[in-house]
Amino acid sequence: MTDQDELTRTAARERIQTVNPASGEPGKDYDEHNIDEAREAAARSQEAFKSWRRTSFGDRAAVIRKAGAILRERTDEFARLMTEEMGKTVDDGRSEVEKCAFQCDWFADHAEGYLARQPVDIGGPEAFVIFNPLGVVLAVMPWNFPFWQVFRFAAPALMAGNGALLKHASNVPGCALAIEDVLHQAGVPHDLFRTLLLPSSEVKALIEDDNVAAVTLTGSVAAGRSVAGAAGGVLKKCVLELGGSDPYVVLDDADIETAAKITAAARMVNGGQSCIAGKRFIVVRKILEQFENAVVNEMRTYEMGDPRREGTRLGPMQSVHARDEIHRQVTESVRKGARLLLGGHVPDRPGAWYPATVLTNVHAGQPAHDEEVFGPVAAIIAAEDETDAVRIANASEYGLGSGVLTGDLDRGRRIAAEELEAGMSFVNENVRSDPRMPFGGVKHSGYGRECSEYGIREFTNIKSVHVKPLEHAAGNRIE
Ligand code: NAP
Repeated sequence: MTDQDELTRTAARERIQTVNPASGEPGKDYDEHNIDEAREAAARSQEAFKSWRRTSFGDRAAVIRKAGAILRERTDEFARLMTEEMGKTVDDGRSEVEKCAFQCDWFADHAEGYLARQPVDIGGPEAFVIFNPLGVVLAVMPWNFPFWQVFRFAAPALMAGNGALLKHASNVPGCALAIEDVLHQAGVPHDLFRTLLLPSSEVKALIEDDNVAAVTLTGSVAAGRSVAGAAGGVLKKCVLELGGSDPYVVLDDADIETAAKITAAARMVNGGQSCIAGKRFIVVRKILEQFENAVVNEMRTYEMGDPRREGTRLGPMQSVHARDEIHRQVTESVRKGARLLLGGHVPDRPGAWYPATVLTNVHAGQPAHDEEVFGPVAAIIAAEDETDAVRIANASEYGLGSGVLTGDLDRGRRIAAEELEAGMSFVNENVRSDPRMPFGGVKHSGYGRECSEYGIREFTNIKSVHVKPLEHAAGNRIE
């Protein structure tokens, strides 16, 4: 009997059918869970949490470090799985698995320090802050980095002493089950972490379950609204990592060829299907034409190819539906005045293919300006000067990543630190997530943080403890 067979079957299950985005061919299919099975898993996880929270950091670190080692041993298998289910190139898949392993090592090594008891001098009696785990955390995750998004949450959450339930995107069930397998093989107690192949329509009911203490969602703004609403209704802690339309401000003192390389690479992360991919390139008019030419040359180097082959720079999109939405955004932008400099046509072949595309003359009112374009489409927007560029960068509902390209580091540092409305700002480099730095956004990009000490504390009770000998109790003040 497999792990997944073990939850009590309460009704006939629906099936989930995967589709290979490169070919359009059906892949494996899986049994879905229903809400009663999910509730049972939550109850068991809560029970397992009672013991796990009492284990030492050293014991938990050994398990999470082992998970990292298993990930490294099975890198090729997992990279292949991602390619089959959501079309990631094999090179990107391998890097993703390595990054997850690094995340495991990092939190195995640093969780104890991040969550160490903090004495506070309040001028007399003993006082300290302690970080207790919250309980069972429900993680609702997206398909675009099917391993990384989960480990980004799970390694710190488990190291903090929590239990976890994973509801992954419905197009990556194989990845979802493989992650559960890695964690169980590493020694995470069987009931403490469970993957649930649950439809998103049941997420609200699971959030409302008494055995679920908190929820984290990485995904779209629409899903964020729904999950935050459900969590708010039952007053449970919620962390949201949502979309982004990351701006890159390109100033006239930047080396244009280098700026084009950095921005094209930023746009093409994961075939453009990344929340922190550079999406809007806001370029000072003086260098606009040179930048357009340089970016087209760079974007042209991202040729579509077989995602299973090493060296392929652009695989298929995750689904035909997603590809069609990207194409709609491009054609509507052109209809509203954008000019196509590269790509922009759906290739005549099966699968979810879309070429590297560059649009210029992008302005407010066009989807390429106003919406998140989740694919290989660079949108160039002209600005009069630095002030105008920053204004355009901030004129977005999102605030996840952002970047500045400039030859003047002081100028770049100032704009990144003080001007851009985003959770992360980078000078002369690509936006990226890093276990050592907080990750998250402002505005409709969500709230809360992942990674670093800020991330691991999200799912803890930051408790104030005051201790006074009984014989001093007469001096207590009541407030
Ligand atoms: P999505 O449709 O929001 O799906 C993400 C997850 O939420 C999936 O597990 C999905 O389940 C579930 N979901 C969808 N609607 C829901 C609802 N109403 N209630 C509860 N759960 C729901 O997002 P996506 O299109 O797959 O992913 C792309 C989006 O994620 C982009 O906007 C991207 O920017 C964002 N993203 C953000 C980050 C970040 O760290 N900020 C990272 C990666 C991606 P089903 O698959 O079963 O529908």
